Amino acid sequence: MNGTLQDWLTSQIGSLHQQNLYKPLLVLESASDARITVNGKSNVINLASNNYLGLANHPKLKQAAIEAVERYGAGAGAVRTIIGNMSLHAELEKRIAEFKHVEASLVFQSGFTANAGVIPTITDGDDAIITDELNHASIIDGVRLSKAARKIYKHNDLNALEEALKETQNAKKRLIITDGVFSMDGDIAPLPGIIALAEQYNAAVMVDDAHGSGVLGGGRGTAYHFGVHQKIDIQLGTLSKAVGVMGGYIAGSSRLIDWLTQRARPFLFSTAHPPAVVAAVIAALDLMEHDPSFTERLWENTRYWKENLQRLGYDTGISETPITPVMVGDEGQALALQRALLEEGVLALAIVFPTVARGKARIRTMPSAMHSRKDLDDALEAFEKVGKRLGIL
Ligand SMILES: *Cc1c(COP(=O)(O)O)cnc(C)c1O
Repeated sequence: MNGTLQDWLTSQIGSLHQQNLYKPLLVLESASDARITVNGKSNVINLASNNYLGLANHPKLKQAAIEAVERYGAGAGAVRTIIGNMSLHAELEKRIAEFKHVEASLVFQSGFTANAGVIPTITDGDDAIITDELNHASIIDGVRLSKAARKIYKHNDLNALEEALKETQNAKKRLIITDGVFSMDGDIAPLPGIIALAEQYNAAVMVDDAHGSGVLGGGRGTAYHFGVHQKIDIQLGTLSKAVGVMGGYIAGSSRLIDWLTQRARPFLFSTAHPPAVVAAVIAALDLMEHDPSFTERLWENTRYWKENLQRLGYDTGISETPITPVMVGDEGQALALQRALLEEGVLALAIVFPTVARGKARIRTMPSAMHSRKDLDDALEAFEKVGKRLGIL
């Protein structure tokens, strides 16, 4: 082993520990459910997962995955463009396009690779990308892979966006990129205003709807929620959060999908999803399309959860979605709250600098369709007890 590399690693890790930025992994020893076993502790109420609809451990998804393994095997055997493109993959893309009311869709291995795939593939050196300052890390990396100029605008600020559009008039093509739902505050991008500016200044719009898919617009996403899905050039969705499995997709025009099929590098050079994944996702779409009770329960629980946290005296920030931050402010107090909650049997994670600004530390909670009223009541009791003990309430 190379000593210089090992020494560098030791010093980097040491520096993370010194700054209290080192995060050991939690170990989940059960399925992702309302109550979980984590780090040896059982019956913990899970408010930390993105499994919004409770589909990750749903019997219909599991059954579909098992049947797909029996019929098609454990792996796809190749990238899509060689001979890994199974009939299941084609069926899933048709289903997503129908569900989203768009012409076509293309599935990537994850939401992350969908961003890394699409952004550099549709922009060149003489283009400009205009991107919200709070966009997800995978958008940032996708933008880094592009040769286009970039402008970062103030979060959800239409004046700042217009300024950026004015400053990039010389670019050949322009692409505005925004998250649909922002993952740290749970607020929603003002898509109608963004589209109006895009039309005025002749820019294309891309929405990363990882946290909007399965949640807003009856599950069809943020664009559908605003009724503007016909006006968004590129919608990115994930199959890893509300859909409960794994994967990402791009939904848009047939021409866009055609081009990505030929040129998007993660699509061309990384193996296709295994059959079990694809079949489970198709089963999830079946449930989402035919049974509105999943999203209804998600929103009912979200309302109940937010109302009662506020009744206890907690500040839940500017959230408009199930992502519910419990604002604490001080980093040390947020970490103390996380530890005390886990002792009381509730898993909700602290989000601190540098993920959010200094002094804006919070506990991020995510109620879901899988939580019963008792789960939420028990969690509220823990939040009350621990909040009073730590002097946060
Ligand atoms: C989670 C997330 C992704 C990544 O999706 P995966 O399918 O987990 O790779 C991309 N964009 C946003 C906004 C996300 O929140």
